[in-house]
Amino acid sequence: MLADKDRIFTNLYGQGDWRLEGARKRGGWNGTKEFLDQGRDWITNEVKASGLRGRGGAGFPTGLKWSFMPKVNDGRPHYLLVNADESEPGTCKDREILRHDPHHLIEGCLIACRAMDAHLAFIYVRGEFVRERERLEQAVEEAYEAKLIGKDNIHGWDLDIIVHHGAGAYICGEETALMESLEGKKGQPRLKPPFPAGMGVYGNPTTVNNVESIAVVPEILRRSAGWFSSIGRPNNVGTKLFMVSGHVNKPATFEEALGESFKDIIEKHCGGIRGGWDNLLAVIPGGASCPVVRGEDMMTAIMDFDGLREKKSSFGTGGMIVMDKSTDIIKAIWRISAFFKHESCGQCTPCREGTGWMMRVMERMVEGRAQKREIDMLFEVTKQIEGHTICALGDAAAWPVQGLIRNFRDVIEARIEQYTYSSTSDGAVPSIAAE
Ligand code: NAD
Ligand code: SF4
Repeated sequence: MLADKDRIFTNLYGQGDWRLEGARKRGGWNGTKEFLDQGRDWITNEVKASGLRGRGGAGFPTGLKWSFMPKVNDGRPHYLLVNADESEPGTCKDREILRHDPHHLIEGCLIACRAMDAHLAFIYVRGEFVRERERLEQAVEEAYEAKLIGKDNIHGWDLDIIVHHGAGAYICGEETALMESLEGKKGQPRLKPPFPAGMGVYGNPTTVNNVESIAVVPEILRRSAGWFSSIGRPNNVGTKLFMVSGHVNKPATFEEALGESFKDIIEKHCGGIRGGWDNLLAVIPGGASCPVVRGEDMMTAIMDFDGLREKKSSFGTGGMIVMDKSTDIIKAIWRISAFFKHESCGQCTPCREGTGWMMRVMERMVEGRAQKREIDMLFEVTKQIEGHTICALGDAAAWPVQGLIRNFRDVIEARIEQYTYSSTSDGAVPSIAAE
């Protein structure tokens, strides 16, 4: 488990001072100029060597992404776009960074911009994060006043930061919709390729990174790439902010090493499962778009990218939703289906029509008002959505339903049998129409 000395976010719970003075006391902004002076390639190579993978959910190698930015200047400005539109259900870690450690992010922006030859960073903040945005703006102002950023700053690399407040649409967290929204257009995803490094904000080379991915960079450089990569296990290294919600004794957000077991993490940080381990039914391990895993499978799960893939799920954002045996698992996944249907931007047919279709079939399945053969048909529909849409929201809507069918077919079948029995013997079936 992660030793206290290896934690990066030492003010995660806001017990210390979030302002510049407090950040400096915790080691922030220390040695920044020396890192910048080593130049673009050195920074990118250090981040590559650290093994850092994107913390927004997809796990794409951060240093590799930075290296896609053009090396030859063709006259177009380069941009960093920080994705602070944290909206994945079960996910609330970037919020804590913005609230309690904003200088990690601002210093990270400066270093990242040096590495990608950029002088302007946008931070796109989720619409609902009003206080977080205000705090971030205050921290950015402090950084300007102290000449840490801005024109002719003490670090010798000009940087402007624009904090942009979103309007509260989940889809705007998708990186190309984020760019559209930032440009003042309707937040609808663009086709990729071109990837943002070739054509991003206003058609200029752009790197889009998650808040946590940028915020850990200063400490990686201060403590060395080797330090970061020594935590965890190959391909899954470093510290990570985890979030646990649902039926644990103490829901929490905390920093932990990758590569630890689910069981150890829940015991150490959350005081175990409500009602004991025998009471664990299921876990959505990395935010709502990850397939649900049966409780008994989670007992041997390793919490990182490869560990969750072995369980036919994904690590996502590290936001675990824990459900005990009091949970109606069909209803829980139906609720997620309703969420994705609501958030679909409607651009592509498989997502626009498919999310509604899945939600309606799921709604009947919650009540048992379905036929068993519809389970396979529903699975087949998820396969028609997966991989056939412009952005990952289509996949994200399909995967939870696939996870439910793969892992809880017996529960769905039993519900259908129960309905068939009760509807022929005048049994009352609860309605979910009011939800
Ligand atoms: P993705 O795999 O398409 O892309 C990940 C990143 O890698 C992107 O920045 C993309 O531009 C880059 N990339 C991928 N292939 C590339 C290539 N060949 N060349 C250059 N760059 C390349 O995934 P995504 O759609 O960005 O993200 C999906 C994930 O987001 C989901 O797994 C989900 O967990 C997560 N998510 C997070 C939140 C949140 O609030 N943090 C919300 C919704 C979804
Ligand atoms: Fe919009 Fe859904 Fe298509 Fe994404 S997959 S572009 S959210 S319709």
